[in-house]
Amino acid sequence: MSQQGYVATPPYAQAKPGMGGYSTGFGSTTPQPHYVHYGGTGQPYSAAQAGHLKPPHGHPPDPSQFGQTNLQNGIYNPGNQIPSYAVPSPCSGQTSPLQSHGSNTQANYQNVAQPLFTQQVTGQLDAMQIGDHGSSPVHPQNTPSLSGPPLRPSFQGSQPQQFLPPISSPTSQGLPIAPAVPAAAVPPGMPPPPRVGMHVGLAGPNQGSVAYQQVPGQPPLIGYLPQQGGMYGGQQRGLQQNYPGAYPGAPATGAQLAGPQQKKLDPDSIPSPIQVIEEDKLRRSGQLFVTNTKGQVPPLVTTNCVVQDQGNASPRFIRCTTYCFPSTADMAKQCQIPLAAVIKPFAILPPNEAPLCVVSHGESGPIRCNRCKAYMCPLMQFIEGGRRYQCGFCNCINEVPPFYFQHLDHMGRRLDHYDKPELSLGSYEFMATLDYCKNSKPPNPPAFIFMIDVSYSNIKIGCVKLICEELKTLLDKLPREDQAESSAIRVGFVTYNKVLHFYNLKSSLAQPQMLVVSDVGEMFVPLLDGFLVDVQDSRPVINNLLDQIPEMFADTSESETVFAPVIQAGLEALKAAECSGKLFIFHSSLPTAEAPGKLRNRDDRKLVNTEKEKTLFQPQSNFYETLAKDCVANSCCVDVFLFPNQYVDVTTMGIVPMSTGGSLYKYNNFQIQTDAELFLNNLRKDVQKPIGFDAIMRVRTNTGFRATDFLGSMYMNNTTDVEVAAIDCDKAITVEFKHDDKLNEENGALIQCALLYTNVAGHRRLRIHNLALNCSSQHADLYKSCETDALINLFAKSAYRAILSQPLKNVREILVNQTAHILACYRKNCASPSSAGQLILPEAMKLLPVYMNCLLKSYVLLGSPDLPTDERAFQRLLVTCMDVVGTQSFFYPRLLPIHKMDVNSEEFPAAVRCSEERLADGGIFLLENGVNMFLWFGLNSQPELIQGIFNVPSFAHINTDLTSLPELDNPYSKKMRSIITNIRNQNPYSMKMIILKQKDKAEGIFRQFLVEDKGLHGGASYVDFLCYVHKEIRQLLT
Ligand SMILES: [Zn+2]
Repeated sequence: MSQQGYVATPPYAQAKPGMGGYSTGFGSTTPQPHYVHYGGTGQPYSAAQAGHLKPPHGHPPDPSQFGQTNLQNGIYNPGNQIPSYAVPSPCSGQTSPLQSHGSNTQANYQNVAQPLFTQQVTGQLDAMQIGDHGSSPVHPQNTPSLSGPPLRPSFQGSQPQQFLPPISSPTSQGLPIAPAVPAAAVPPGMPPPPRVGMHVGLAGPNQGSVAYQQVPGQPPLIGYLPQQGGMYGGQQRGLQQNYPGAYPGAPATGAQLAGPQQKKLDPDSIPSPIQVIEEDKLRRSGQLFVTNTKGQVPPLVTTNCVVQDQGNASPRFIRCTTYCFPSTADMAKQCQIPLAAVIKPFAILPPNEAPLCVVSHGESGPIRCNRCKAYMCPLMQFIEGGRRYQCGFCNCINEVPPFYFQHLDHMGRRLDHYDKPELSLGSYEFMATLDYCKNSKPPNPPAFIFMIDVSYSNIKIGCVKLICEELKTLLDKLPREDQAESSAIRVGFVTYNKVLHFYNLKSSLAQPQMLVVSDVGEMFVPLLDGFLVDVQDSRPVINNLLDQIPEMFADTSESETVFAPVIQAGLEALKAAECSGKLFIFHSSLPTAEAPGKLRNRDDRKLVNTEKEKTLFQPQSNFYETLAKDCVANSCCVDVFLFPNQYVDVTTMGIVPMSTGGSLYKYNNFQIQTDAELFLNNLRKDVQKPIGFDAIMRVRTNTGFRATDFLGSMYMNNTTDVEVAAIDCDKAITVEFKHDDKLNEENGALIQCALLYTNVAGHRRLRIHNLALNCSSQHADLYKSCETDALINLFAKSAYRAILSQPLKNVREILVNQTAHILACYRKNCASPSSAGQLILPEAMKLLPVYMNCLLKSYVLLGSPDLPTDERAFQRLLVTCMDVVGTQSFFYPRLLPIHKMDVNSEEFPAAVRCSEERLADGGIFLLENGVNMFLWFGLNSQPELIQGIFNVPSFAHINTDLTSLPELDNPYSKKMRSIITNIRNQNPYSMKMIILKQKDKAEGIFRQFLVEDKGLHGGASYVDFLCYVHKEIRQLLT
């Protein structure tokens, strides 16, 4: 493909190779009120450098590349907008306690005297009722509708809501239903308000309206204890004040008062993730989600649907915390709902959805707004008979270039509207011209360099041989451009212990040649020609090398390794070859050999729960950060596969992968018999996955708000440009927005994400994702358009970053306080004023408390000295680059009752809630969270199932050392293996399957994933946390 051409305004500056920014022209940098999260972690701003004007070349414009005829569009028809309703905001205009939150971590409402808590909870629970009107058959209008038009969820339940008086006295602090939007607020003749409120207490349809009422004279009960034997340790000990992971002011007592003889708060009466997930599936699964309407809330990530792009990016690419932004900064500050988008630019689309079109605007490059540089998209409005267009982002009026001119129809729409992806679709790609290339030269195809630690430890565990064997076949499967016969990616090989060995693999050689670099202080690449080779050309030499490596080092006694020089060597090799690429480093131990980046064992779990705990998540020195920056500047992405048998300082070793868009894998105490399959699956996925190199991402918005914060596996050299050496199909970047002005309700909030990158064939591309959101001055509109799963993604990533600079205790407090604020604001502005004291949750956010509690109980935020530092650091890095699907299942695992599986159905058995109570002695359960997978067998598991799955007669015969199931020819075995394969295919990481028996010693690790229960290492139960949040909300409202 031709890369020649010019544009008058160079889009990307190239003053510094690889670090160039987009050209400026993007709004002001007015300081924003900072009310969410953890304060000053912003990057220093450095202005983008000016680029160079290129002389024109004589190539004719490329013909348009798309030939899709079924382009459809129905964009932004105001008639399709979800109407907003006048919801009285009794407290608006007043000084709300919410407004005092600020960025201060010690918000004023935290001064609740802690000793009072138990007493307050007592008072609260004395009158607590758990209402169930929400799903009562008597009031069907309150039930989330299972029918109705799938694309207009806001109209469901569209009857005026009724208020049922609580059964207890009017002053009681119960949880009965109340109208989320007072019926009186609906003007006559107008459609009734959409259902925006949800009351705790949604349960099965046959449940009574009061699930729990305090028995007079009895101590209050807010918790329930798992009914179980005493062998699991943690649950039996009392709840300690300040136990790890406690929320602020956690009850010192109370939670553990519940005993078998006492009446418990019925867990079925509080919002259930399973129920919400299942209801969404029932309502929207298998349906078409057409993206033709501004601000549409997509189905949950757990619901399968087919997406049709009709002007907005698919939720597979972008998911938002809310699809309706508050119109003013004040309103945003009041509600404290973070405004964010989780962007996964390279998300894989299923085969039944149309792949992205590639558009060429010829030698002049993509058409862009002169002022804000936004790319041509459905948000541009053509005027004056098609001669000009108004930019949807900055309102600038631009001339339409003559070659792009087209007449308008009677609707003011271009006649070629449906023929051009950039006019009718939310996502598409542009071919980029030379101005978008480093040094204005077409890029070379990328390279993969495999770098294998051949020290004693890696050799002994059999890793080296395993890798070399696998690479022989894997090299045939390197990613390639569609229709290309073979991959353009070149490969190179390095082995190392405390010195590095490079290999000359030139196709003319009969044998590979080894060149040793023992001076690791100043790393250089001893050969240029023959290091990076084409797999096809050099196949015999490569195979020869891969056969020889395990033998060459079979008798090594070298136990020391270097690490930084290995990255430097790869980086230098890519620099010398003038290409981008990825290093695959297979490493075993803490790099203690004398060399740059040498590390010492500094693990110290005594720091946990102290002011210094944060140092465990900070790198040992700045060395790796500088190296990472260098890697990003030269488009060198680094993936690290760790095989440690002790502490390896994941925090420090993970810096480079996490800053370059790479991945980190960790196999503790790797054993070839049990872990080889897991590792190889990961390696295969990692090598073959769709990926873009030398990427720079910019998020543009319309006037009124802007992107202010970015979270993910990436690097920021200034405040606006996200730089990644490479980004693959699994990596998501979470972008937070703040107001810098008022948003116009008619225009809504518009987002354009542009990602410039080099594809696997070495072609420069621009991938564009557009999304139009609603905007409203009514809190109810905002709350009904929220997506809790995306909120948790943002909360997790920002909390995991905040622990670098703050004590974990503060970070946890901020999360709890913000949760209470969000819900209190809803209560204040959207729910009936007559229902003070009730816990009323917004329908779209009724899972916020349970998911938030899961986040608080995650390894990273727990602050328990029982947890290995490397494991916490590892999970922190994993979550940092996760998408919404990933964080949803990571924080609330999926628990499947295998004993209920239907061998004749394609479906999984319906999941159950992650709680001890849901387990059964006679059951078999599969639990997975995208990282871990367990198969748990109850003491009385059905012998028939055990026989079917393992071919052994009974529970006692189950071999728990297995990590995969035997392939047996019976329906149970087939169904079971198909479930596991399906789960593994759905996740970016392959999971090791751990088989556990009830009452085995190892069972403890399984139980800590039962996230609705009190944690083994600390952390409140869901019920306790919900009560605590309720108390906080009431505090805020008084
Ligand atoms: Zn513009």
